[in-house]
Amino acid sequence: MIQFAERHGRIVHVSEVPSGLMCECICVACRRRLIARKGREVTHHFAHRDTFDCDGGWEGLTHSQAKQLIAEVRSLFVPLHDVALHDYTSRALRRPVMQKVEFERVNTEVSLGNYRIDLEGIHASGKRLVIEIAVTSACSRRKRQFLRRQQEPAVEIYLNQLSKGFTLDEFKEQVLKTAPRIWIYNSLFEQTRSQERRRRRALRSDLEERAEQYESAFQDLQQRVRDLATHSGDRLFTGILQLRNLKEFDIPFRTLCVFSESGLLAEFQNLAVVEERYVSRLGQFQGRTVGFFLLPEDSFITLKSKLRVPFPKARIAWIEGVPQDKLKWLKYRKWDPGMR
Ligand SMILES: [Zn+2]
Repeated sequence: MIQFAERHGRIVHVSEVPSGLMCECICVACRRRLIARKGREVTHHFAHRDTFDCDGGWEGLTHSQAKQLIAEVRSLFVPLHDVALHDYTSRALRRPVMQKVEFERVNTEVSLGNYRIDLEGIHASGKRLVIEIAVTSACSRRKRQFLRRQQEPAVEIYLNQLSKGFTLDEFKEQVLKTAPRIWIYNSLFEQTRSQERRRRRALRSDLEERAEQYESAFQDLQQRVRDLATHSGDRLFTGILQLRNLKEFDIPFRTLCVFSESGLLAEFQNLAVVEERYVSRLGQFQGRTVGFFLLPEDSFITLKSKLRVPFPKARIAWIEGVPQDKLKWLKYRKWDPGMR
């Protein structure tokens, strides 16, 4: 969609001219007459009167108009340089924190080494900012490397998303502020970036170390729970049924447990959790003495986060004062006749 055209030797936006042939515009690419299409339905644009295979010099025009705009306005929004490394990722790129830079003057088409740069903005302090504008092709790798080697603060603005048609105000807004822009080089940014890299490296190795420690502690604990259950075989423990908060074991809920000092693990405060499927039915027997054995094959509590935490698990075999035939729903394997 053609948005800019030439009118009496000057480049104009479609919004600045009357509709139709009255616009008196010609195409900068083929020099033919253009019609300004300014209806209600479509985005206003220029169209060739009789040919359709010309893009109206779109790329070159967008490029030169953007340059002219920055040169006139003498200011530009750039990404804040002290952003952390993650602000370089595509997600943050869409909404980086911006900072307005004002220039004392802006020069176009400047030579730097063997390269032509689109613009240089000269700050009141005398510092130069190289500004590159990419419409369809970005700054070359070599030019980029050159700017980095020279440690020239340089920013590149990407206007490749403009092709869908735009009003003049949108164009200004895009060029000066909202179109994506990335630092090719910025010393403060580089500093922050290498600091951030170092910080992350340190953090990562620290985390890895802690994960290793945690993993081995976890395995150790799990092994102890299994050993206890396996070695006690069919041994019947006795304990008291009680509701316990397991927060201190990093388990974020209360559940029915048996408390027994007869050989459970001290690090679990002599607790074993009651098998989940029986918790609701056994709740009414809190405070009673129960007989139970440990389940060697299921010594875990699975959390909502799917995280599994080793914990002794108890299968209740009898309950003090409750006759066996009232406990048919309990899949007990042992019965202590003395408790009948
Ligand atoms: Zn043309």
